[in-house]
Amino acid sequence: MSASGPTERSILVSVPNAPGIENRLKPLGLDVLAAWKDRVYIVAGDADLRSLENAALSFRPELGRTLSPGSVAAAGGGLNGAYHTYKELEADLLALQQKYPAIAKVFVLGESLEGRRIYALKISDNVEREEAQAQVLILGCHHAREWISVEVPFLWGKYLAENYATNPEVKRLVDRSEVWIVPLVNPDGLEYTIHAYRYWRKNRRDNGGGQFGVDLNRNYEYKWGLDAVGSSADPSSAVYRGAAPFSEPETRAVRDLFLKKDFRALVSYHSFSQVILYPWSYTDLPSDRDAELRDIAVEMSDRIKAVNGRLYKPGQSGKDLYLSNGDTTDWTFGLSGIPSYTIELPPIDELLGGFFNREEDIAPIFQENLPALIYLLDRTVQNYRPSLQNPFDLRDFLFRRWRTGAILN
Ligand SMILES: [Zn+2]
Repeated sequence: MSASGPTERSILVSVPNAPGIENRLKPLGLDVLAAWKDRVYIVAGDADLRSLENAALSFRPELGRTLSPGSVAAAGGGLNGAYHTYKELEADLLALQQKYPAIAKVFVLGESLEGRRIYALKISDNVEREEAQAQVLILGCHHAREWISVEVPFLWGKYLAENYATNPEVKRLVDRSEVWIVPLVNPDGLEYTIHAYRYWRKNRRDNGGGQFGVDLNRNYEYKWGLDAVGSSADPSSAVYRGAAPFSEPETRAVRDLFLKKDFRALVSYHSFSQVILYPWSYTDLPSDRDAELRDIAVEMSDRIKAVNGRLYKPGQSGKDLYLSNGDTTDWTFGLSGIPSYTIELPPIDELLGGFFNREEDIAPIFQENLPALIYLLDRTVQNYRPSLQNPFDLRDFLFRRWRTGAILN
């Protein structure tokens, strides 16, 4: 999530983990990886090292080499444990489809730059059919290093599939909705974080001149490239927005699905910082639907907090986090006005681990997000009215009302 990022020439350094160190590091805007025992680890470029020196913080290099591609794997990383690789996710999605063919179906939305498939999992009754039902879109992993953001969407699909037969609430919701889940928008980036450089954020676009990557969450069309606040025209930047809106196959895959369907709510998962953000991102001024967006965010936040006590602070992204442009939720909200959320998963800050959640964190983080997802889906189902401009929706709507004996008024 950090707007300033390390470059490929950055090195890993550490400073002593002394009392008050958090407050000394914060104003420097560094990419702090984690506090571990008596050291705090930081990925730092040249400018960051100068900041540390100026702040009289003595640091020592940790790996004795730069964090160029390959070095992290060589240093003993390379495996991502309980977190999904691209291939593991593919296998798990197909296994869900095979085990629950009546309600789970896997779609290929497109291919990444390096030819990996961008998968969507659809969960619905009559899953083979398009029905006039409340459609909800859940996205994960626009940003490669945010591994936990793959797991929550995937586990949501798995939860719905596994509990459909036995849990009446799940059955009611699945029967009346289409839940679309794209757990891994950025497969090339994810693989790169596993095998080369754990801290990578963008996709793997070759921008020329030795620069790689477009920030997929700055590549959407709405107010794309409005200014250089939170997105950048510089290909070396961690928030490089790309050469044009939807220049990347990964964002086009999301776009094409969105335009083909009639989604009524959206959540895009990221990490970290425990916030629930709603449009706008491009401005700190509220949208004309601010109160509604806020009410839903507050409700989700309350339900999350009730599970493990963790606060996910609700707020408008451009006002309460930072300004940026070209992000997913500004586009979906700007285009269709649907409630659109960016949920930044735990931890709350860098000193508690930042992007580096433990394997044991996956289950509790999913469990605490589950009631918020159920709430949002239920609310969307309750408020659903078919779009009457669409003859297909109208026919299906009338048929359902007739079949269920409801009176049209
Ligand atoms: Zn992110």
